[in-house]
Amino acid sequence: MEEEPFRTIIEPFRIHSVEPLRMTTRAERREHLGAAAYNLFQLRAEHVLIDLLTDSGTGAMSRDQWAAIQHGDESYAGSPSFYVFVDAVRELFPFEHVIPVHQGRAAEKILFTALGGPGRIVPNNTHFDTTRANVEATGARAVDLVIAEGRDPLSEHPFKGNMDLEALDALLAEHAASVPCVMVTITNNSGGGQPVSLANLQGVREVCDRYDTPLFLDACRFAENAWFIHEREEGQGERDVADIVRDMAALADGMTMSAKKDPMGNIGGWLAMRDDDLAQACRTQLILTEGFPTYGGLAGRDLEALAQGLREVVQHDYLRYRIRSTAYLGEALQRIGVPVLRPIGGHAVYLDARGLAPHLDPLEYPGQSVAVALYEAGGIRSCEIGTVMFGRQPDGSEAPSSMDLVRLAIPRRTYTQSHIDYVIEVCARVAADAASLPGYRITAEPPSLRHFTAAFEPLR
Ligand SMILES: *Cc1c(COP(=O)(O)O)cnc(C)c1O
Repeated sequence: MEEEPFRTIIEPFRIHSVEPLRMTTRAERREHLGAAAYNLFQLRAEHVLIDLLTDSGTGAMSRDQWAAIQHGDESYAGSPSFYVFVDAVRELFPFEHVIPVHQGRAAEKILFTALGGPGRIVPNNTHFDTTRANVEATGARAVDLVIAEGRDPLSEHPFKGNMDLEALDALLAEHAASVPCVMVTITNNSGGGQPVSLANLQGVREVCDRYDTPLFLDACRFAENAWFIHEREEGQGERDVADIVRDMAALADGMTMSAKKDPMGNIGGWLAMRDDDLAQACRTQLILTEGFPTYGGLAGRDLEALAQGLREVVQHDYLRYRIRSTAYLGEALQRIGVPVLRPIGGHAVYLDARGLAPHLDPLEYPGQSVAVALYEAGGIRSCEIGTVMFGRQPDGSEAPSSMDLVRLAIPRRTYTQSHIDYVIEVCARVAADAASLPGYRITAEPPSLRHFTAAFEPLR
């Protein structure tokens, strides 16, 4: 008889090189908050103890990635590092054309420069904010068609990132001639890091085939998405995650990628596709803005590190730990009565700040208030995703966003369970005192993307 597996899922690595964390006192953090005008983007990172602002480019590289960096060849054209990179990408995503770029939004900019334009429409499950901005910058319209469950914070649907196939079909029936491509974001970052099922991707492919429309993946968290398929989708539990990734790729005509996410890089990205003419147009644009097609704004050493990262991210031990450790944080918070978005996503836990501080009006920015309190109480940096981020309307007025969330994004392989236990304790303390959290008002803001630079003041 086989032995029971042990319940503790450990970090599947040990620490090889350490970065010191500096403790600060509450009084010091109050001072830093004042100097930053209560905007956590304006803090110096050295004043942050546990940095959960984003999982983008903040992960720890492995010993083998650092070793790969020593293989970096910095030839301007035709570097061997480019071919190592392309082979590693094609091992998972066998697209004819693989075009490196400095990060995900550069891939979006190049793709939509080629495919966008006034009158065009690009559907997606949910556009990430840079994707939307790059679509709209060309004059095209970005349309979100996630299933209804994906917009309901209480729904326990296992694949809340799924595309609404009927809505997609209806849109294409009317406008196919104006739709240059359909995009699917895996996992659906703006929808809470929620996955898309393989069956849904197949459904999207069928709809696209009916209207002869190309399908592109925004594949930043492809490995986390594939792990959710492995765990939750019927008939997938015995399969290798790398095979599931290849199935996802086979359904698409191309992809955009931020290598700062699942490819385990601190910088990088790529654009890939099957179509020769589109690739030609994209490479022409690439040379204008990123560089020659065999480096695309990256150093040869970056390309080597990404190739190695791609081999590591599809390992089951890593993904089991990754998804479990995010759920560990979310479930602990739920247990102590902190309201969180369900089910727990792949890369982040989202606190429901409106639920935590119901005495605050959305226009008093409950998400900002909770995020500031987490920093003041314990030096934890999180990110408001709510009325501060989305509240300013195109006509200049202000309206509450649909939810006021605080995102705790988990950098890859960076923090240990005791760091996370500390985060849970800090959250518990802030939650216990939530009734006393002050609202905030904005004293200065830029014309767009105000969350990065706005200045705040507590209302006391
Ligand atoms: C991060 C991200 C991007 C943009 O990538 P950058 O590397 O930050 O430019 C695009 N789409 C999704 C889903 C992302 O998470």
